[in-house]
Amino acid sequence: MTSPAAVPAIAPATPFRDKALPPGLHRQTLAVHTALERSPYGENSEALYLTSSFVQPNSETAARRFAGLEEGYTYSRTSNPTVSSFEQRLAALEGAEAAIGVASGMAAILMLCMGLLRAGDHVVCSRSVFGSTVSLIGREFSKFGVQTDFVSQTDTAQWRAALRPETKLLFAETPTNPLTDVCDIRALADIAHGAGALLAVDNSFCSPVVQRPFEFGADLVIHSGTKYIDGQGRVLAGAICGPAKLITEVFTPIARTAGMTLSPFNAWVVLKGLETLDLRMRAHCANALALAQWLQAQPAVARVYYPGLPSHPQHELALRQQNGQGGAVIAFDVHGQTPQALRRNAFTVIDATCVCSVTANLGDTKTTITHPATTSHGRLSEEQRQAAGIGQGLIRLAVGLEHMDDIQADLQRGLSQLA
Ligand SMILES: *Cc1c(COP(=O)(O)O)cnc(C)c1O
Repeated sequence: MTSPAAVPAIAPATPFRDKALPPGLHRQTLAVHTALERSPYGENSEALYLTSSFVQPNSETAARRFAGLEEGYTYSRTSNPTVSSFEQRLAALEGAEAAIGVASGMAAILMLCMGLLRAGDHVVCSRSVFGSTVSLIGREFSKFGVQTDFVSQTDTAQWRAALRPETKLLFAETPTNPLTDVCDIRALADIAHGAGALLAVDNSFCSPVVQRPFEFGADLVIHSGTKYIDGQGRVLAGAICGPAKLITEVFTPIARTAGMTLSPFNAWVVLKGLETLDLRMRAHCANALALAQWLQAQPAVARVYYPGLPSHPQHELALRQQNGQGGAVIAFDVHGQTPQALRRNAFTVIDATCVCSVTANLGDTKTTITHPATTSHGRLSEEQRQAAGIGQGLIRLAVGLEHMDDIQADLQRGLSQLA
């Protein structure tokens, strides 16, 4: 028997070294070039290091790396080059010192709470944040002695009134899902800092193209990379962006020991997602604005909720805080006399669509359409839904990248059956 052939030595003896990027590059350029991690083969697309562990050259080196005395990869729960590339690139786009990638948006919020809170601490949180965030902070963390007050998204006086000496964290998400209420990040940051607390902002709905909370004083930014950062509905991913000291000394040890690790494959998908994020977000927002304007003029539509419309209660604030963009999520109420009629009419519009996908996900190239009262907010009581302003006639659209005329025709089909 002959021995198996060795892999031909086509990799150069000296690995490819990229020149350092010049200072002052634009965000679009940073999104494509930051933290490009090439293998010795010099590929031009980001390498995917899909491995659970890393071979050590010898026992001495292994000992130093495991003791943290020498840089070097050991195990992908601890660190991985593809995950590091995503973290550095996201931090560059958010304008953060550092970022840490984790398995999902909820894993990022779990890590945030584990890192900042202990028994006896108090949190002030918007009442309108993502449903799982309410359950995680309000219910799960109450088991560990953390108390949370949920307050109005838009009334900053309520945030100030809720402060206690034990308040450690203010948590906001803007705009909200599905009614697109916008909170004033600068005002909340001032309230937090006056009380010696930190402000964390969930930026999943905007991405750093539309909103950069650090520019308005936020201390930490949370992402569900599952939404616009992936942008094509393929993987779950999450991240926290913030000061390097907090990321390395507080959050990294938690991610390493608790194992909410971002898979290298998913990191590679969202890393490539960041490259096209700017173009995609601008196209999402342009489509959404055109649709919101059109919806507003439809006789079967009672009300449109979209920060890009002058009729939105926080329109001026939204434009200032969101780079002049309204975002890509729209909600609208159809007309109807009774809750039953409202629901029937909403279902008619949703079921008449062929281009839109009927799903509660968002941040996809495909436009998604959903009925919040029976899906994302279906577990609330009727009173809670009323208090939240989520009626049976409400429809949420997360506007995708199809041609605007085709999305419009898709909605027109059902709306014309109502008029
Ligand atoms: C989807 C979402 C989350 C949760 O993210 P996952 O990646 O699904 O865990 C958190 N916040 C907001 C605003 C979201 O839209």
